[in-house]
Amino acid sequence: MVANEKSSKISGFYKLSIEQRIEIVKKFSDISDEDISNLKKPIDLSLADTMIENVIGTFEIPIGIAMNFTINGEDKLIPMATEESSVVAAASNAAKIARIHGGFKTEISDPLMIGQIQILGVKDIPKAASAIIEKKQEILKVANAQDKILVGLGGGAKDIEVRILETSNQEMIVVHLIVDVRDAMGANAVNTMVEALAPIMEELTDGYIRLKILSNLADKRIAKAKAVFDKEQMGGEKNIDAFLESYSLASIDPYRAATHNKGIMNGIDAVIVATGNDFRAIEAGAHAYAARKGQYSSLTKYSKDESGNLVGEIELPVAVGIVGGAGSIHPKAKFCKKILNIQSAKQLSEIIASVGLAQNFAAVFALSTVGIQKGHMSLHARNIAMMAGANKDELDIVAEKMVKEGNVRMDRAKEILESMK
Ligand code: NAD
Repeated sequence: MVANEKSSKISGFYKLSIEQRIEIVKKFSDISDEDISNLKKPIDLSLADTMIENVIGTFEIPIGIAMNFTINGEDKLIPMATEESSVVAAASNAAKIARIHGGFKTEISDPLMIGQIQILGVKDIPKAASAIIEKKQEILKVANAQDKILVGLGGGAKDIEVRILETSNQEMIVVHLIVDVRDAMGANAVNTMVEALAPIMEELTDGYIRLKILSNLADKRIAKAKAVFDKEQMGGEKNIDAFLESYSLASIDPYRAATHNKGIMNGIDAVIVATGNDFRAIEAGAHAYAARKGQYSSLTKYSKDESGNLVGEIELPVAVGIVGGAGSIHPKAKFCKKILNIQSAKQLSEIIASVGLAQNFAAVFALSTVGIQKGHMSLHARNIAMMAGANKDELDIVAEKMVKEGNVRMDRAKEILESMK
């Protein structure tokens, strides 16, 4: 069943008991018995109480492990926290097809985030803009004085950009502070810096500051991943052509692109949540980036190589951290990062981009061949059976019958349950 302890190609994982699966993950990663006991129980209410306000409990969602991933030559087991059925299985299947041609190859930019400072009421905008550019070094010094740790690690404020924008009744200067946030997501780090710059900006421009906040359109912090999906495994050239036809709609139509990109985020968000990162930040950045050319479009692109295999590529902003934020205090996020065996935010970005591509490939492949419902149906049928009141023993019987009949509906589940009584 298991190829070797460090291979992520583990067949039949889904057939094992939870205990057996944990044992395999334990052999693969550097996790302790204490980690495992933390995994099995909800986080302490006292910890939750320090994370947000007005706490009354915690909300559990499942963590599953995606198999088969090879990323830049290294095998990874990938923890995914999601409530949606089929996501983990689909990512694993896609990764299995991609590993035939070496898996996922990635390219990650420096971890540069943008902080915005909005300056209003400036009488002479060109003069004020020049004054800011002239004082760049002084501005960077003030920003860097806010985060000695980051600067000590080789990060910190690196550059500024000055933009002049106008609404129907007002012109304004918007200064972008470019900050290398190293292994952090960086929102707090950047926000502290831009807030500290308000007085110097007012002094230089003779205007007043309104907003001073991070931009989630992290278009200087880009992750790219690429993989070749095997022609034979995909059932031959006709399926690749069908795939490319399906993909073409996402490349030209925002109505399709929104759903296409949602499929990407099914995978990405699951890793973001599992590692305690900010999924709203990633979502905002991804969708804004998808619209960067003026029309909302696909975050992936596909083509055929000279052998007729499918080549998939993804490009999106990935503002994630392995230090700071909730990921540093949530025991399950710490556990999931251990499984991933990552030492930098860059490595986490490599995984996230690869999972996004795998998830998208799996969805488009299913859609362009058998349709999405087939894969979803058995788990969906179990959910419907459960909602209709089936107990543990009745669940599979009711679900199987509904799938067989091609009639997965609550009223039918209730009828079957009734007939079993
Ligand atoms: P943070 O402030 O908790 O941690 C970052 C700090 O850790 C750095 O400033 C640095 O001083 C220190 N550090 C230690 N080792 C480091 C290393 N190797 N690399 C980088 N920094 C290191 O977290 P953060 O990443 O600045 O902020 C993330 C949090 O901000 C998230 O919880 C997010 O939800 C929240 N947030 C997001 C937004 C937004 O997205 N618009 C706005 C506000 C807050």
